[in-house]
Amino acid sequence: MKRFLTDSYVKWEKTPVALSGVFENAPAHAARVLREIQPKAGGAKVRFLPMCEAARALVTETFGAVLSEGTDEGFVLDIKREEITVYADTLLFKNSAAYSLLAHSAEGLTEGVVCSYPCVEHRSIRFYLPAREEFPFFKRFMELLCALGYNAVVLEIGAAMELRRHPEMNEYWLRYSASMNAVRNKRYLASELNPGMRNSTHTFNARGEVLSREEVRELVDYGRSLGLEMIPEIPSLSHSEHILGCYPSLAENKADDAPTCACPLNEDLYPIVFDLYDEAIEVFDAKTVHMAHDEWWVYCVCDKCKDKDPGELFAYNVNKCYDYLKKKGVKGVIWGDSLVGIRDRVTGEVHGAYHKPAYTQKTDKYMDLMGKMLPMYKKEWTPDMSKPWPADAIDSTMKDRTRSFSLVDPEIRIFNWYYAGNPEIRDPFLAGGRYAVYGNYQPMRTLRWKERVQAGIRGFSVSNWIDSTEVETMRWGATSAVGFAAIQAFDPAYTDEGFREKVLLCSECLYFLNRRQILSSPRVEITHTFTGKPFDNEDAEAAGERTLLGYYTLVYENGESEKVEVHTDYNIGVNGVLGIPEEDAHSFNTSKGLSKHIYRTMGAARLGEMDGACVYTFAIPAKGPVRKVYYEPIRNAYSVEIKEIKNLSK
Ligand SMILES: [Zn+2]
Repeated sequence: MKRFLTDSYVKWEKTPVALSGVFENAPAHAARVLREIQPKAGGAKVRFLPMCEAARALVTETFGAVLSEGTDEGFVLDIKREEITVYADTLLFKNSAAYSLLAHSAEGLTEGVVCSYPCVEHRSIRFYLPAREEFPFFKRFMELLCALGYNAVVLEIGAAMELRRHPEMNEYWLRYSASMNAVRNKRYLASELNPGMRNSTHTFNARGEVLSREEVRELVDYGRSLGLEMIPEIPSLSHSEHILGCYPSLAENKADDAPTCACPLNEDLYPIVFDLYDEAIEVFDAKTVHMAHDEWWVYCVCDKCKDKDPGELFAYNVNKCYDYLKKKGVKGVIWGDSLVGIRDRVTGEVHGAYHKPAYTQKTDKYMDLMGKMLPMYKKEWTPDMSKPWPADAIDSTMKDRTRSFSLVDPEIRIFNWYYAGNPEIRDPFLAGGRYAVYGNYQPMRTLRWKERVQAGIRGFSVSNWIDSTEVETMRWGATSAVGFAAIQAFDPAYTDEGFREKVLLCSECLYFLNRRQILSSPRVEITHTFTGKPFDNEDAEAAGERTLLGYYTLVYENGESEKVEVHTDYNIGVNGVLGIPEEDAHSFNTSKGLSKHIYRTMGAARLGEMDGACVYTFAIPAKGPVRKVYYEPIRNAYSVEIKEIKNLSK
């Protein structure tokens, strides 16, 4: 591989280099990765040393670059025929350096110097807890993060982890999730359960199960063995069905049958929240807690709160939660949407903390939740204010809460998901001197990255708001985002130019990292593409069958055969052009110009181009010599075009 996603500077010479299989001072995971490289007698020993003056001098001499001494992140590889020296201080970067060597060895290693050095300090992903059976996937995904120089994982806990002090919440969570997850699409329809606005339902968390403390600890320990900081996310003011289902008196709106927002002035809330913090800090040995606080949409309803300023209420709650963490020496993070307001200059729609008129209307429909039939409400998010509201409108206006910005403890770190190019949207946290990273990060849609770093953004966190499985994580776009954001973090020459080359590089590296075992074993490689309008499959419940286009059948020499499913946005993508992102500085996101149905395949397929259109190569492991391969469509409206089948099974 000529270039890897974490390369900041590389220089290659001609002399080939092999590894001897001897590793000095290698951490366990790094040694495991390095053992994947075929050793040769007389090859180079790999020696791990701390970062030092000599390494810095080598970088300056080779690349003319000066490495800052203010961080212990990054690594330098000095690759010589007799010896390879890895200069790195942290466990993460020792492991990450091993992946860099592995990737660069894939097409033949030569003498040279590789330097990886991130330009931002926070690089994470936010996940739901994986279901038990997805632990192997999740561990592999954390290895991918380590390979790409990520340093943290945020895992939502809710009541999906065993709570010793509150088993009643676990018990409620099981019943609540079972009810929500039993019927397709129900968790989305659940937004119509409330007389006010409702934030999203998080029953993807652990797929509605409760993981034991030991199980969560297993994931935490694995992440930590790679060098990742493991951060629990603990919702309490909003997204708090697990609390309010057990303690309805803590809800802000007592008339709500399925409340999701708590009352910030009910002092009985806090001992419960602190118990949740304590349990998570214990299991995670957490240095940071993500306090969530996103989508706080029901407030100033109860008698105590109704005449108060919502910004003050929000800050009171956040600061009280954070003070508890601060006393334990734990850092606090919240989502930033209740701190800043965004107005889309094109549509006029407001987001975040600005005054947002809205109403609901009771319908004659009902939905079953845990055996109770609850009334459903139609939501009007952007009512026409020039017309009177209907007589039965239930006012659900979200009053301006921007006062919270100046009241929330400035030490609290912000995950900001409003980051369009327009500086008034992009920079409020930075202008206010806050510690902010981009949350729900979509790197391919984020233009002018370097300007943002110069303005003071501390990094990014990609999100995966779906079931934690390999397929869904790819379809959600999180896998490709993780890859592309690594280029932004590590390439000091990053600009918006060369987008196409960066996407292809990202695809090549993710495919190698995810499929390297298959790619070094007997296999069949298929290059194909399809025409037709792909499904928008953010609804994971229906995705599997809606994205299935057909099957490849491998017929083995021994007469046995095997069927392999072909899914859009996974191992096949659209026959389109790559496109380049167009800046939409008015809206809260830059989303024009890109086909997500192309880049979501990254990780399961290698993206390529033929005759100006995108093609996708994926590999099927062969259990023996393959005699023939054929394709059978199940959806005739979609035409799958097979470009090449390589039989590498013999
Ligand atoms: Zn209240």
